Amino acid sequence: MLGLLFLLLPVAMGYGWFMGRNSVKQNDHSAQQELSIKYSTGLNYLFSNQQDKAIDYLLEALKVEDDTVEAHFAMANLFRRRGELDRALKVHEHLVRQKHLPNSAKQQAVFELAKDFLSAGLYDRAESMFHKLLKSKTYGLKSLTALMQIYQSTKDWHQGIALKKAIAKTRDTKLLHTLANFYCELASTALEKDEFIDVIELLDNALSHDPNSSRANWLMAQIYENHQQYNEACQCYKAIYEQDKEFFPDVIEKMFLCYQALDAEKEFFQFIRKVYEETGSTSALIKYLTHIEHVKGVNSAKKFILSALKRRPTIRGFKHFVKMQMNDNESENTSENLEAIRELVTAYLNVKHRYSCRTCGFNSSTHYWSCPSCHDWEQLKPVRGLDGE
Ligand SMILES: [Zn+2]
Repeated sequence: MLGLLFLLLPVAMGYGWFMGRNSVKQNDHSAQQELSIKYSTGLNYLFSNQQDKAIDYLLEALKVEDDTVEAHFAMANLFRRRGELDRALKVHEHLVRQKHLPNSAKQQAVFELAKDFLSAGLYDRAESMFHKLLKSKTYGLKSLTALMQIYQSTKDWHQGIALKKAIAKTRDTKLLHTLANFYCELASTALEKDEFIDVIELLDNALSHDPNSSRANWLMAQIYENHQQYNEACQCYKAIYEQDKEFFPDVIEKMFLCYQALDAEKEFFQFIRKVYEETGSTSALIKYLTHIEHVKGVNSAKKFILSALKRRPTIRGFKHFVKMQMNDNESENTSENLEAIRELVTAYLNVKHRYSCRTCGFNSSTHYWSCPSCHDWEQLKPVRGLDGE
């Protein structure tokens, strides 16, 4: 009760201002009397604990004028912060109905009302409100972002893509990245049905809006592989390396199979050596070792990994070294000991998460394109450090 009185303070202030101002300007005493009656009726409801009736009466009593509009917004904000969404909604709806307000206040009212609907999970109504603001200088970008969030949660990828012109105009990298992922979502579905042309078209669109979408190249590589176009697939994997070196370790094996199909393993290992030199990635190191072992023998490979692990120790690298030792050793006892070490390290790695979200730190052993925690796109990447890449 006391809390609500506090809430209505801005209203009372606005009311006081309004009455003071109008008593000078206005001669229409009967209208003022009517307002006063409504105001005291509202307060009576408030004191008799009928808060919703009180709000109705007070909103009606307090005509929204330029001077009191801020007080109205403040009141609605207080309601919202207290979690009383229905009351915030009521005030904002009242503000939206005021036709005489200046444009900036009108837009603010529509935006706040849209946010109320969004918080209440009334997506349809929030959506139509945000759409009204797309051309607004102040609320255009915020409304676009909110709309894309709505379409992401309703998986309405086509609706999001329909906003592509407005998004392109903003040149907002985050929104363009989101838009590219909407195309990727459609491309994934088309990929499942093996619709080659659709997949390529959708992914071209994704890349034209966000040239850094490694997901688009990843999907494109899949469709090319499905159609035995290994050269094209290899180009996509190379592009991923340029776009996102952190994600790249996850495509090394697939990339290798493509080069193998092209009978171009030598070229692949040249590339993977460059990757290892530039990033120090353990997956690249392990892959490159198979090449050294094949060309120069197991001892050279062991020397290589030993010096690599000294420079940059990782548990996965260590595990691989132990495996090489075991394969090479003929003494059964030593082999058993090493097996124990290997199991230990494997067990350690199994409890570790392979992926972490670069935005919010969410950990996972499965890969997601959209983070289950913060919903950011393409931020789940292999963990780096001692037990990662
Ligand atoms: Zn996240």
